[in-house]
Amino acid sequence: MSADCIFCKIVAGNIPSKTIYEDGNVIAFHDIRPMAKTHFLIVPKKHIETLKDCTVEDQDLLGGMMLLAPKLAADQGLVGYKTLMNVGREGGQEVFHIHLHVYGGGAAA
Ligand code: AMP
Ligand code: ZN
Repeated sequence: MSADCIFCKIVAGNIPSKTIYEDGNVIAFHDIRPMAKTHFLIVPKKHIETLKDCTVEDQDLLGGMMLLAPKLAADQGLVGYKTLMNVGREGGQEVFHIHLHVYGGGAAA
């Protein structure tokens, strides 16, 4: 856990989120500023700042996040969707705790 990290605070339950899934390794919740009608984030409970910081130790965690995307997308009624991970400030990353975006269903209202 990183004291200043907003996603660590969500993992710890100190900031509310619209959670759609949680297990021992990950939490998934709706994005607060949705870019599509359905837009949620799959977030590992482990604090890792960027994909660049991942090591072979994290491969099961990363694979689990990818495999969870279609399950949660189906739960949300999505047939087709996009997955995205922004890497580094130059890559559009704003929250430095890795997360997989899943979005679909057309543009946000
Ligand atoms: P990124 O630019 O890839 O780092 O994406 C960060 C995402 O986190 C953005 O889409 C934000 O809207 C989203 N976000 C930031 N704070 C929260 C929050 N408290 N609850 C849900 N989503 C958030
Ligand atoms: Zn964190």
